Amino acid sequence: LELKKTRIFELVDKALRLIKYEADPAGIKIINSVEPNLPEVEVDKDRLTQVLLNIFINAIQAMPSGGTLTVNVKAMENRLQFEISDTGGGISPQDQANIFNPYFTTKKRGTGLGLAIAFKIIETHGGTITIESLKNKGTTFVISIPMKQNKP
Ligand code: ADP
Ligand code: MG
Repeated sequence: LELKKTRIFELVDKALRLIKYEADPAGIKIINSVEPNLPEVEVDKDRLTQVLLNIFINAIQAMPSGGTLTVNVKAMENRLQFEISDTGGGISPQDQANIFNPYFTTKKRGTGLGLAIAFKIIETHGGTITIESLKNKGTTFVISIPMKQNKP
């Protein structure tokens, strides 16, 4: 990992700007409710951006007839908690057990790698990634990462 002190509001904002051109025409509203004054954290910017993009793109694909994508990040003691929610079709309990497995996809043209890669990157940061999803209500991805990395 290439760890750098990072302002998370800016990192999330930049990632959201990258997907705006896919979200807009699909009628997807983006809400950035990241706390602007979060403490700086040590992360690998490019890899964390990759994680967010993988999750955002899945969210957009889950809302083909519009919806809302909400990103919330808050500081909790010595960890940072990301919550990324969509109002799409949700994930069945059976699929929830598999979505982090490489090559698991329910899409015609999916690779099934996006979430497997996200899981690895978050694990390497000493963090966790979990989901809460209800069929027809939407999905929330919850990522928790430590603010400081233990260097080897
Ligand atoms: P891919 O997008 O190529 O299918 P991913 O690893 O990104 O691979 O996702 C795996 C599977 O998890 C998807 O095929 C889909 O079934 C499910 N999934 C992921 N994110 C969402 C979401 N936000 N809403 C509904 N299903 C999702
Ligand atoms: Mg994907």
